[in-house]
Amino acid sequence: MPTMGALHPGHLSLLRNAKSRCDIVVCSIFVNPTQFNDASDLEKYPRPIEQDTALLESISCDVLFLPDVEEMYGENEHWHIDLGSLETMWEGAFRPGHFQGVTQVVYKLFQIVQPHYAFFGQKDFQQCMVVRRLVDIMQVPVRLVICPIERSREGLALSSRNVRLSDHGLRDALDLSKALRLVRHGAKEQGLSKSKLAANALLDENPNIQVEYFAICKPDTLLEVKECEGEQLVALIAAYIEGVRLIDNMLIDCQ
Ligand code: AMP
Repeated sequence: MPTMGALHPGHLSLLRNAKSRCDIVVCSIFVNPTQFNDASDLEKYPRPIEQDTALLESISCDVLFLPDVEEMYGENEHWHIDLGSLETMWEGAFRPGHFQGVTQVVYKLFQIVQPHYAFFGQKDFQQCMVVRRLVDIMQVPVRLVICPIERSREGLALSSRNVRLSDHGLRDALDLSKALRLVRHGAKEQGLSKSKLAANALLDENPNIQVEYFAICKPDTLLEVKECEGEQLVALIAAYIEGVRLIDNMLIDCQ
């Protein structure tokens, strides 16, 4: 199970899932520099390693893989994989090079650990698609397990970045999942475009939220749709609050 540490109950739910399926569970903690397109985000990324180690012990994780940057990367390494439109849509558009860095490190981790199963969170919806593509292209013999998003009681998607928010910021951040829920609940009754308008209005009313994108998409292509088509869609959002970039998503049943 690849992580960047600052473990929270979202990570632990993946670990529990892994423990229920696997004899030996390996958790990696590596803040991967090649997937950060913003140097200050990399620098500010929380690294509470003692707390993480204690959490992993409390849940009886078998192995912690905690490499240095020098151990993972040689000098002047080159990596490029054809991610198609995933490279330039949504997260790809706002974080150029991010998914090349993600696939580069995930491929290295797969080669080092050689897991039978790998656990990823739906929280990073597009990342799951990208890793699936990596596995297909490189023919990695691993089964991917995508685990549901763990949220706070009020609905905020748990994230390592949440610790950088003030109490006020944490309250503002609730509007992200509120907007997603408005779309999810409204889609069947009012139709998608009306409920999206209501969700946009909610986000616009909060001056502390700077939305990067908020879109309702087909879950297999991530192409944006205006009305319900097919059975299931996904609403994706990315926004800055107090200079912290947060992402969230929710599946929307149209029928
Ligand atoms: P990260 O440490 O942010 O790279 O996350 C490591 C793994 O945990 C990724 O597969 C994430 O999608 C997953 N993850 C992060 N937050 C959550 C959450 N709130 N619920 C479930 N999985 C999560």
